[in-house]
This record gives sequence, structure tokens and C-alpha cells, in this order.
Amino acid sequence: MATKLEYIWLDGYKPTQSLRSKTKIVKSFSGKVEDLDNWSFDGSSTEQAPGGSSDCILKPVFTVPDPQRKDAYLVMCEVLDSTGAPHESNGRALIQDDDNDFWFGFEQEYFLWDPATNKPLGFPAGGYPGPQGPYYCSVGANNAYGREIVEEHLDACLEAGLNVEGINAEVAAGQWEFQIFAKGAKEAGDQIWVARYLLERIGEKFGVAVNWHCKPLGQLDWNGSGMHANFSNTTLRTANSKATFEAICEAFRPAVAECIAVYGADNDQRLTGKHETASIHDFSYGVSDRGASIRIPLYAVEHNWSGYLEDRRPNSAADPYKVAAVIIKTVKTAKV
Ligand code: ADP
Ligand code: MN
Ligand code: MN
Ligand code: MN
Repeated sequence: MATKLEYIWLDGYKPTQSLRSKTKIVKSFSGKVEDLDNWSFDGSSTEQAPGGSSDCILKPVFTVPDPQRKDAYLVMCEVLDSTGAPHESNGRALIQDDDNDFWFGFEQEYFLWDPATNKPLGFPAGGYPGPQGPYYCSVGANNAYGREIVEEHLDACLEAGLNVEGINAEVAAGQWEFQIFAKGAKEAGDQIWVARYLLERIGEKFGVAVNWHCKPLGQLDWNGSGMHANFSNTTLRTANSKATFEAICEAFRPAVAECIAVYGADNDQRLTGKHETASIHDFSYGVSDRGASIRIPLYAVEHNWSGYLEDRRPNSAADPYKVAAVIIKTVKTAKV
């Protein structure tokens, strides 16, 4: 049966890469990623190649059924250059986690955005809604904006087989979150990107955009958007040791600049020390501390110092592949 394959990749724009995709029709498809062929695209239109030598290669790495299209699949791809080497825009290729020992749970925050007013849903055209307070985990037309989009997105993700663990309305009006968890850093990144793709595409139907910027309302009293990275490896999951948790946290201290470099554009606007963030200039960690760079969840303490850590610094526009890559690299330097 003719099958639609949506090949999805990340472009070469800096500092924030965007999703691109195009449809390939095949006569039949087994549903297994290893049965998919590489494809190519014009890298000169995505800031990934010069015009004179424009071909880049799409290498399928993850596929799920497309819940919103007949006889169709979504195909997440890595970008290779014309020699077949990972393109410099390819953050997935940086992940050093071949045995999938690292598990990641990303909390993706975002704003639903009205292109007509250039404001979040729920913001009157000429001004602002009431101050923050009632919107977080809210219900009712005065406080929760865009639920029909959020619900359709959740159903689409679940039908595709993505491991969404939950959703919630966030602190600012028009701001929402979904959480995705996977055992394996590459898979977690793949799932986040496919979920972002589905949200963008569902938004099209409603004429609503997704604003991934970490501080789209500037320095007013409105929360920014993060993408907290919860992570663990066997060492953390079976630590039974406060010292192990502290050694892994300490490994992040000398890596601050390297981490911040991939934790999303304009993060200085978000990591101000206000709105449940730590200052971008500091490094700190603490149990249950939502004002720290890295939070040690109460869960770990209650499980005799075994479990996971939460790096609260990555922002909503960060590339989960690059975030995972630097976290894995840094954890591996810990003196445990
Ligand atoms: P909060 O908003 O309190 O920070 P959430 O419930 O939104 O917490 O997110 C917690 C995240 O932690 C979830 O995405 C979950 O999958 C993740 N998580 C839980 N256990 C682990 C683990 N062992 N390794 C990695 N991530 C984990
Ligand atoms: Mn959360
Ligand atoms: Mn949140
Ligand atoms: Mn969190």
C-alpha cells in the first residue's frame, strides 16, 4: 500500500535550529526504521550547505506511525554531509551512550502563541491578563487557554507511541508543559523532537503558533519556559550514597560554560535567579531546591540516595540531543 513517510530533520540555523520535513511516498513499508532508505535535501536552503554543493543526506533513525495522516509514518532523521559524515548541525551524533545506560525525562514548556496579536493565547490584543497565580494547573475559560490544542497533541503523541508521562498548564497564561521519558538519550531526544513536530503541525489547524523562546514576554513578571532535563545512569539509580550524588553534581561545576553553550539561546534572559531559576552566573545544587541549577529530587533522598538528578537550566528552545550529550559527557567526568 502506498505509504507516506514524513522525513523530519533539524536545519542549520543558529543559534536555534528549526524543524524541517518533506514527504516521501513508498509502495510499502514494514514499519521498521532499518528498512528505510536515506534521502537527500537542498542544504543551501537550510543553512546546511553552499549552493554549489548543496546536497545533504537524511539518515532515518527513529520512526513512529503518523497518527494524523492516512497510511503514514513520521521519520526522524540525522543530517549527514555529502561525504556521509555527521553534519556539524547534527547534535544527535554527539551523544556517547551506546548502551542506553542514560535515561532522560524532559519537561518541555512552551507558549501557545497567537500570530495575529503576537502574544500568548489568553492575552488581550492591547494589554495583559491578570498577574500570574491562577494559571498553573488551572481549569476554566478565565485561566486555561488552548486546551483543545493541548489535548489533541497529547492524543496524537500517545497514538504515535511516544512515551508522554504527563501534561500541565504552566505558570504564565497560555503556557503549557509536556513530559517525555525514555531509557536512552537518543530515543529521548527523538521523542521530544517528534512531539514538537506534532505540536507545530496541530497548531497550524488552529492558526496558533508555538513559541519555544525561553523568555518570550521579556523581563516582565511572566515566567520563562524551560526544558528541565531529568537524568540518571546506573550509578545514580543504584547509588545508595549521598557522596555519589554530590560528586556528580560537582562534576558540573567546571562545565558551566560548556553546558550553558547548548542549553538554549538567550538563557541569560531566563536564568535570572527569579521565577524558580538560578542565576546564569552561579552554579548550585540542593535537595528539592527549585532555585538551584541542579535539583536533587526528594525522591532520591527518600530512596536512600538513589534515583536521578534534575538539571533545571536547559531552556525550552534547547536541542535535547545536545543537552543530553553534554550531560552524559559531564557525568562521565565525575569522581565517583
Ligand atoms: P517537576 O515538575 O516536579 O520537576 P515532573 O513530574 O514534571 O517534575 O518531571 C519529572 C521528570 O523526571 C519526568 O519527566 C520523569 O520521567 C523523570 N524521571 C523520573 N525518574 C527518572 C529517572 N530515574 N531517570 C531520568 N528521569 C527520570
Ligand atoms: Mn514539570
Ligand atoms: Mn514546568
Ligand atoms: Mn522540573
